[in-house]
Amino acid sequence: MEANELNADLHCHSDVSDGTLTPEGVAARAHANGVQLWSLTDHDEIGGQHRARRAALELGMPFLSGVEISVTFLGKTVHIVGLGFDIDDAGLRQGLAATRGGRGQRAREMAQALAEVGIEGAYEGALKYVGNPELVSRTHFARYLVEAGVCANTPEVFRHYLADGKPGFVPHRWAALGDALRWIKGAGGMAVIAHPGRYGFSPIEEHAFFTEFKEHGGEGVEVVTGSHRPEEYGKYADMALEYGLYASRGSDFHSPDESHTDLGTLPRLPAKLIPAWELLAERVHTP
Ligand code: AMP
Ligand code: MN
Ligand code: MN
Ligand code: MN
Repeated sequence: MEANELNADLHCHSDVSDGTLTPEGVAARAHANGVQLWSLTDHDEIGGQHRARRAALELGMPFLSGVEISVTFLGKTVHIVGLGFDIDDAGLRQGLAATRGGRGQRAREMAQALAEVGIEGAYEGALKYVGNPELVSRTHFARYLVEAGVCANTPEVFRHYLADGKPGFVPHRWAALGDALRWIKGAGGMAVIAHPGRYGFSPIEEHAFFTEFKEHGGEGVEVVTGSHRPEEYGKYADMALEYGLYASRGSDFHSPDESHTDLGTLPRLPAKLIPAWELLAERVHTP
């Protein structure tokens, strides 16, 4: 089999961050959907990695460690995926703990901002959906606002309340790009730009982002992701080649009820790209 034909899903979430399934539940669903190489990439948290690895190996599914780190770059939030690192690396754990640290205060400020537009009790409401007290996310607020009848679904909540510039949005300073890359690489992992089509950068900003990412030792970019529209696969395939980056693929699955892309169901990587798993072959845990 050509390496690009592998059904790899290297981006998804469990209830250790803002997904709704347990790490074991995500593993079972990935396996049932035919995933042949799996990574769980919870936001700013690797507390689910040992469970995920155990579940994957019990199912006979090869596993790569994973994380999705929140980074502030040019005033915007971008996400950097780390793959194939040492799960027990102290530097990575400390960096992620520091990054998570601001989330509690931010959540209270978000609730206050929502109260000012007439939505009361959002902090307590969001907490009902939180699986990890250190990882209160906008996603948990979105779930509560749907429950409260404010919006019909979570994308609508983001459009009206939680996206940058909307009433419930609280600006937040995440990790610096160089720090995130240092943590990932210091733990022996590979850094990958997550869903670059999502950030709304101008061409010059995007060039700066890719260039700085490479200067810090970044090696990969997501091309086929549930967070890209199919029209964007071609653009980022070309950018992977232009910048000499390995290509990655992942659903960005969060929940059976919310995610429009299920685990393991995306098109395969275009044949002209070199898949990230070529570089990571020695980091894969096999059953
Ligand atoms: P946070 O890290 O708390 O800022 O939350 C970011 C998370 O919100 C992302 O990882 C997505 O899961 C979710 N999200 C962001 N934008 C949207 C959107 N437009 N629709 C649905 N979910 C979104
Ligand atoms: Mn998320
Ligand atoms: Mn993301
Ligand atoms: Mn994600």
